[in-house]
Amino acid sequence: MSDEQRREEIAKALAAVEARVADACAAAGRPRAEVRLLAVTKTFPATDAALLADLGQTDLGENRDQEAGPKAAELRALRPDARPRWHMIGRLQRNKARSVVRWADEVQSVDSVRLADALAKALRSAREAGERSAPLDVLIQASLDDDPSRGGCPLPHVGELADHIAGLDGLRLRGLMAVAPLGADPAPAFARLAAAAADLRRSHPDAVELSAGMSGDLEPAIAHGSTCVRVGTALLGARGLASP
Ligand SMILES: *Cc1c(COP(=O)(O)O)cnc(C)c1O
Repeated sequence: MSDEQRREEIAKALAAVEARVADACAAAGRPRAEVRLLAVTKTFPATDAALLADLGQTDLGENRDQEAGPKAAELRALRPDARPRWHMIGRLQRNKARSVVRWADEVQSVDSVRLADALAKALRSAREAGERSAPLDVLIQASLDDDPSRGGCPLPHVGELADHIAGLDGLRLRGLMAVAPLGADPAPAFARLAAAAADLRRSHPDAVELSAGMSGDLEPAIAHGSTCVRVGTALLGARGLASP
């Protein structure tokens, strides 16, 4: 496929996703401006991220540090004037913290005190090395299925983790993120998440973000207060079976 064809394909998909988001906001009686679209570029090349940036899509999401760091660098080379905002949305091992703070503006998948501490430490080193000056926005990834293999902080522990993050230098607690349970109606899970987000805002008034909803379930997520939908497949196409 030529660059021009790919550009058109992505433009069409972006318009279709935009329309879904706008319709879901209207149905929920919410202003469109309350919901950010995060384009998930994992498994797709930096050239696709560049086409998205050309179309004005600047919030980009990745789930693997090894893939995202080089891709962010490639996008800088392809589009030096673009100002993308990179979001880490995947499971993160503590030994990757030092690498992640070099490319991520926000980490949405913080689910433990130990990971939060590792990120704070990595940020301190990056600042000392002159690699980064901006603070790191973080979301707590909440577990909606209590399946430890899928990551996420159990809902009853979100409050403690939030208090801990709020005390760390350089990290800014911005809200909650979650993935709906596999193979179940997402609506009740998103309702529980919305209640947890409301609790969190009472003790941490700046933690206003709620990242929920993907290609298949962005409508119920927006109905339950999502402020950020993370969309991959509906924008860029199906990923290979082997990829996460
Ligand atoms: C891959 C991924 C998405 C995007 O999923 P799609 O179904 O392709 O839209 C959203 N959130 C997370 C955490 C992901 O890993």
